Amino acid sequence: MKFTKHWNVKKTAQNMAIPGSGQVANSAGGFAWEITPWQRLDRFLVLGTEGGSYYISEQKLTEANAITLVSLIKSDGEKVVARIVEISDSGRAPKNDPAIFALALAAAYGDVPTRQAAFAAVPKVCRTGTHLFQFVAEAEGVRGWGRGMRKAIQRWYNQTPIDDLTYQAIKYQQRGGWSHRDLLRLAHPKPLTVEHKALYKWIVDGEVTAENARLQAFEQLKTTRNVKQAVRLITDHRMPREVVPTELLTEAKIWEALMESMPMTAMVRNLANMTRVGLLQMKSAATKKVVEQLSNPDRLKRSRIHPIALLLAHATYSVGRGMRGQNTWAPIPSIVDALEEAFYKAFEFVEPTENRYLLGLDVSGSMSMCTVAGTPLSACAASTAMAMVTMQTEPYCMPMAFADQFRAIPLTKRMRLSDAMLHTQAVNFGGTDCALPMEYARKHKLEIDTFVVYTDNETWSGRIHPAQALMEYRQATGIPAKLVVMGMCSNGFSIANPADPGMLDVVGFDASVPQALREFVLS
Ligand code: CA
Repeated sequence: MKFTKHWNVKKTAQNMAIPGSGQVANSAGGFAWEITPWQRLDRFLVLGTEGGSYYISEQKLTEANAITLVSLIKSDGEKVVARIVEISDSGRAPKNDPAIFALALAAAYGDVPTRQAAFAAVPKVCRTGTHLFQFVAEAEGVRGWGRGMRKAIQRWYNQTPIDDLTYQAIKYQQRGGWSHRDLLRLAHPKPLTVEHKALYKWIVDGEVTAENARLQAFEQLKTTRNVKQAVRLITDHRMPREVVPTELLTEAKIWEALMESMPMTAMVRNLANMTRVGLLQMKSAATKKVVEQLSNPDRLKRSRIHPIALLLAHATYSVGRGMRGQNTWAPIPSIVDALEEAFYKAFEFVEPTENRYLLGLDVSGSMSMCTVAGTPLSACAASTAMAMVTMQTEPYCMPMAFADQFRAIPLTKRMRLSDAMLHTQAVNFGGTDCALPMEYARKHKLEIDTFVVYTDNETWSGRIHPAQALMEYRQATGIPAKLVVMGMCSNGFSIANPADPGMLDVVGFDASVPQALREFVLS
């Protein structure tokens, strides 16, 4: 009998824990490390749990995340709130919903200072009326109405500048079972200005007074069918699309007026509509404006638009056909290109490190089943896009796909995003061995400084753990190679050994990924 067959720290099959390493079972029958609660918080805030994963249902994944969150809130609640604000406010997450839920948990389970911090953070995290409705709905599921809650809502209404507040109040009067009227009645904010007072009166009683010209315009717009008049009202009073009568939305002139003050996210979402009504033409001023805005990094940053929103808009707009219904349009090539460029620009620009990278994409079956942040994008499509982001900056990148064996993929820097994603989606099957990128590089003598592995960390089929394969690679080549794990699913596992400073866990599709990568590589 050979004892190291059963206790070997250098070569351990992935269906067993590395002896003494503290690894735990993942959901796929393999072993990995558990990430820290703080890392889990970040994964949850960025990736959410919508749609669940290949192995775990949405309900179970949410439950598991909520349990971690609540215990973190109980041990260090104020720090949790600060993290929620940081990620929500910086626009690093594709969706704000996880941040709102986490904030509601902090307002329910935190100690007194935490609850105060959570309520004080409401305006920072709930930046629109819809966010506020969501917060109230989530909070109602975990706590009662109390003084803190009422005061937070009072502050939200009283401290939002009247212009923005009116805009919010007319855009969506109600969403998800809550209305501004409900909230004003429950919270009773005492208006601090006459304008606020007039607005509250309109929200509660529907009474329009002379103090608020925008409300008057809104009431007129609701009933008019005259294009000229509607255009004037939209232009003079910055009206959102949501308040324009549906019959008027087939008019290019109306969209032209709306575009004047349309937020970036709305513009991106309405590109197909604006093309269909004939406003966006190959050579029109409106198209020029769209392309200019999409090419402006400052504008992209200020709008907090997440790269994933641009990626999705690109995917939808470029096919010229809606997902549901018979809507078709002829996509304008310059806009398709601008959307792709904007996707890259929406990430923080970083200087190249000139490291030699191996970008290892997990294309196993599970990566096509888990979606990212409630979008139709699979974890696999999302990781391909993330790999392309690194390829735009770094001159030395070797892309590679793997499942339970190596699969070559011909990604290059100049390849179109949509083509790149097709290449990886076409090969989505098989078991998972996250050690393959390191093993392949060792066997084929590839000189690599940094391995980046895009995965859901549900690895199970290899003869050796990824962390061990990295050690072998370091020993064989003499290169002190590092490993970055891009977690593409909000579970609690990682193939990165937390005790090895040369391994890092990053949340895939965090808009700050390029920066985190650069800092780690240079550290
Ligand atoms: Ca898998």
